[in-house]
Amino acid sequence: MKKNLLKIAALAMVSALAVSSLAGCGAGDDASNTASKGTLTMATNAEFPPFEYLEGEEIVGADVDMAKAVAEYLGYELEITNIDFDAALTGAQTGKYDMAVAGITANEERRQNMNFSNDYFKASQSIIVNADSEIKAAADLEGKTVSCQEGTTGEQYLLDNGYQIQSFKTGSEAITALTTGKVDAVVIDNAVAKALSAEQNGKTVVLDEALTQESYAIAMKLGNDELTEEINKALAALKEDGTLAQIFEKYELTVDAE
Ligand code: GLN
Repeated sequence: MKKNLLKIAALAMVSALAVSSLAGCGAGDDASNTASKGTLTMATNAEFPPFEYLEGEEIVGADVDMAKAVAEYLGYELEITNIDFDAALTGAQTGKYDMAVAGITANEERRQNMNFSNDYFKASQSIIVNADSEIKAAADLEGKTVSCQEGTTGEQYLLDNGYQIQSFKTGSEAITALTTGKVDAVVIDNAVAKALSAEQNGKTVVLDEALTQESYAIAMKLGNDELTEEINKALAALKEDGTLAQIFEKYELTVDAE
């Protein structure tokens, strides 16, 4: 009887161990793990054309195509979740998602809390103004109110430089604040500024001045070096065989020569 009880206890322990090691395979629960059970989970914010945006119900864009190509190269299924930008960052940081791909600038501050893949795109912050605005350059922004997207490097730039800001969840809300006269300018990533401004049918223009120099990379949980390596391998191969260039071209994105 006692022996049996012991046996049961031992069995229970073994199954508890099995469960915990299975749980360890979940989306980045254990930093040493790669993607969860054959599925690579990705968080994004589909409000950032042409990198990620909605076409009807479907999430499309250059980042989405790139993530699909990476997943395919590595033999994973890709599962994309569309959430707020700051939640996508936090989701990668905590390991809730294996990765966040959302035109994310890999900067020093974020590198303290997250792993990043190698860079895949060079970007900068741009200014959008109304077509009839007197603002012609960054120097004219002095004393003006500028809208931006919450939790982004654009917002950080504006705060660091002492501007009055209004932050919105999405770039399109930031641009509506401009066209409805609530703010004097928008600061947002250059390619997105172009895409969002193009939707305004000439009411807005993007100024030809780069406020920052940034690079986009895929974000993962800090210490998930195995997945970071895998993704870097995939990115290198897709760069080498021209897939990445093709994807960027499809969305009319110019990749700076290195
Ligand atoms: N590149 C900017 C950042 O990382 C904006 C990204 C975004 O809004 N999707 O903060």
